[in-house]
Amino acid sequence: MCLPANYKNPNCIFATMQLLDGKVAAAAIKEKLQHAVNERLLAGKKTPHLAAILVGNNGASETYVASKVKNCAEVGFKSSLIRLPLEVTEAELLAEIALLNQNTAIDGILVQLPLPKHIDDSKIIAAIVPAKDVDGFHAVSVGRMVQGLDSFIPATPYGIMLLLEYFGVATTGKHAVVIGRSNIVGRPMSILLSSHHPQGNCTVTLCHSKTPNLESFTQQADIVVAALGKPGFLTHSMVKPGAVVIDVGITRVTDATKKSGFSIKGDVDFDGVAPKCSWITPVPGGVGLMTIGALLMNTLKAAEGLDSAR
Ligand code: NAP
Repeated sequence: MCLPANYKNPNCIFATMQLLDGKVAAAAIKEKLQHAVNERLLAGKKTPHLAAILVGNNGASETYVASKVKNCAEVGFKSSLIRLPLEVTEAELLAEIALLNQNTAIDGILVQLPLPKHIDDSKIIAAIVPAKDVDGFHAVSVGRMVQGLDSFIPATPYGIMLLLEYFGVATTGKHAVVIGRSNIVGRPMSILLSSHHPQGNCTVTLCHSKTPNLESFTQQADIVVAALGKPGFLTHSMVKPGAVVIDVGITRVTDATKKSGFSIKGDVDFDGVAPKCSWITPVPGGVGLMTIGALLMNTLKAAEGLDSAR
């Protein structure tokens, strides 16, 4: 499924830069998943089934969950959306997860984050049985990933690895700088990029809000992954010529020119940085689409069982 390293997006507006186009790569993943579903059905196996729990009605969470449900349908998966009110108690949410854990019709469970403040995220994540942990946030999944064992990998860093693979971006021996150390993006990203993997084998520097003189690290980086949630943070002067730049940021910024009243901004000043890059992801149309593709890959893995969804 890899394209040659010199793949050139025809829509690219810069002479030297190539776009890491999430639409193209995610479409290829979805085609592979549709094929896998058909194969399963021919073999008399069940359709993969994802259960998503949404607490409250946060606008961004509604959008993400709706997109996950829609993408499940597009690849032939079943999905169940369980909506719970904002006031749901932690005990009630745990009881819902216990039911889904026991339900043999359900292969994967995800709880859309963030949860309301009165609910402890870590307790909820720990309650999901590891075999159905398609978000890859459970300590068992994280531990297996760190040890290089077959595991569910958090969808955003997994999606980035799939994007690098799809476009044949070389990573071995490169210096990667990851900005952000969250459990869902930055930290697992740093582990994957440093792992024994064709899209790993990097020397990794993990930066965060307490890193002094952060640009001194990004200026040396062959690969920069920006995952901090600060729109336009990574600018032209912070990037080395020829760098690969991955923009994870998704921030809703007020925009009166849009019908919705907001536009989506990444953590990279795309117009300033792109002319210096060898490869760069757009926002939107980059990492976000790959995140959903990776979640679906994890759901297939859950249906097939670890070590066998290849
Ligand atoms: P998070 O939990 O808020 O973590 C942000 C990280 O960035 C923290 O480690 C923080 O450092 C660091 N940081 C904040 N300000 C910084 C600064 N000025 N300099 C250096 N580091 C700084 O966020 P997250 O969940 O990882 O998400 C990050 C962004 O990615 C958000 O925009 C989010 O919406 C987006 N996202 C996108 C996808 C996708 O599919 N594209 C998926 C998930 C998240 P400390 O640890 O020191 O506080």
